Amino acid sequence: MESYELIILGGGLAGMCAAVEAGEQGVNVLLLEKQDELGGSTVLSSGYMAFANTDMQEKAGIVDSTESLIEDMIEVGGGVNNKELVEVYGKRQLESYQWLVEHGVEFRSLEAVSGHSVPRGHIIDPHQAIQSLFRRVKQLANVTILFSAPAKRLLKNANGRIDTVIYESEGKETKANASKGIIISSGGFAKSEEMLTQFAPQLKGALRIGGIGNKGDGIKMAWEHGAWVQDLPYLNGTYGFHPSAAGAVKSQGLAFYKGAIMVNQLGKRFVNESISYKLLGKAAFEQPECITYQVWDQTVMDKSVFDDPLYDFELLKRRRLLYKADTLEELADCIDVPVEAVEETISKYNQGAQNGEDPEFGRKSLTHNYGKPTPIERAPFYAFESTVAMLATYAGIAVNAAAQVVNPYGEPIPGLFAAGEVTGGFHGAGYMTGSSLGKAVVFGRIAVQEALSNLPVKR
Ligand SMILES: Cc1cc2nc3c(=O)[nH]c(=O)nc-3n(C[C@H](O)[C@H](O)[C@H](O)COP(=O)(O)OP(=O)(O)OC[C@H]3O[C@@H](n4cnc5c(N)ncnc54)[C@H](O)[C@@H]3O)c2cc1C
Repeated sequence: MESYELIILGGGLAGMCAAVEAGEQGVNVLLLEKQDELGGSTVLSSGYMAFANTDMQEKAGIVDSTESLIEDMIEVGGGVNNKELVEVYGKRQLESYQWLVEHGVEFRSLEAVSGHSVPRGHIIDPHQAIQSLFRRVKQLANVTILFSAPAKRLLKNANGRIDTVIYESEGKETKANASKGIIISSGGFAKSEEMLTQFAPQLKGALRIGGIGNKGDGIKMAWEHGAWVQDLPYLNGTYGFHPSAAGAVKSQGLAFYKGAIMVNQLGKRFVNESISYKLLGKAAFEQPECITYQVWDQTVMDKSVFDDPLYDFELLKRRRLLYKADTLEELADCIDVPVEAVEETISKYNQGAQNGEDPEFGRKSLTHNYGKPTPIERAPFYAFESTVAMLATYAGIAVNAAAQVVNPYGEPIPGLFAAGEVTGGFHGAGYMTGSSLGKAVVFGRIAVQEALSNLPVKR
């Protein structure tokens, strides 16, 4: 049998951060990646990372704090998140941001997105991030990465410790032993029809977007050995994708966080547009035939951010995904919703925006507590048909603050750690943008540090 000190299952952001951390501590590491390339859902992502108190925020004059970051995460998570995990995130997030910068990850700009009471979405190019970490791994002779090598099952030794991985490589089944720990970082299950049908039947019909290898393998492997699972009842899609978005071209637009409203086929608003886009997804999925539109005017269009993964509305226009009209009447005609209803909806909304109130849905901000809604009144007007995508599952293996996998009684399962999207408990009922990539870094490294905590730190 092959022997290592640590074995990491999955080479997305969590796994790659774990591999670099472990490699720099000088231990002998094997990372198994199921696909023939690294990156999983990470490289498909919009690249927002939630950090507070960074030099970028300071330069932009944004006042943020760890306390506010934690408060926002708990509020967005409906108060049912595992507070211990959120607290650890708060403690470790700034250092994690700095660690990424030191490891060559480039942050290009800042935006406020879902759940941010100030702009704290620090944007990376996820391909560049994974490549930087991979470059570092290649300098570390003690780290081995095997591609097209899916982990299949885990085995327990006679002392009850999980210490062996069965994996497949080049058509052969092989066993590898890990003396210090096994870290599951195999991502979520957005690409497993089997698991989505089981745990999220309400999302039948939602687009599926995620790493092709993300089929919940790690959850099953841990479950077999008694792992508890968390947050399954809160599985939700994400709102803001054009119905064609699961194809080759990304087509997501979150104009509602810059001031657009959402209307259904009847031309009516149905939700406070400033809430988490996960909860917007739930609300949108309950509309007639699940068809909804984001509607905005030129004032919102002027807030389009060039090359931003979520706010480049001009790009959506160039891709011919937007309807544009000089009057609301024409716009309603384009999207085939009743003209009078659209006019009435917008007139009511505008009155509210002018008076700083929204009697129907209570919208007070653009996103979370940030920004003020503006009337939709400046021609031309735009509509973007939007639907829901299941793109990150955010529910899974229960872990404690040391990233140890725990059983239903909260007791660690010896030898087993987990980090990234494969874990549950962290987000609770809702996800704050950027906290999933963020937690992959924070807990990927913690898993290694805890597994090696009985070893002297080597760099
Ligand atoms: C379109 C989209 C946009 C998103 N935007 C954002 C965003 O802006 N900010 C944010 O915070 N989050 C975002 N997310 C979510 C975020 O990208 C993921 O939650 C995060 O990247 C998960 O990282 P990870 O390392 O846990 O998993 P992944 O990056 O998915 O990596 C898991 C890896 O494990 C491998 N694997 C699976 N099974 C096995 C096995 N049996 N053996 C070996 N390897 C295995 C997979 O092939 C994959 O490479 C987005 C997701 C999508 C799809």
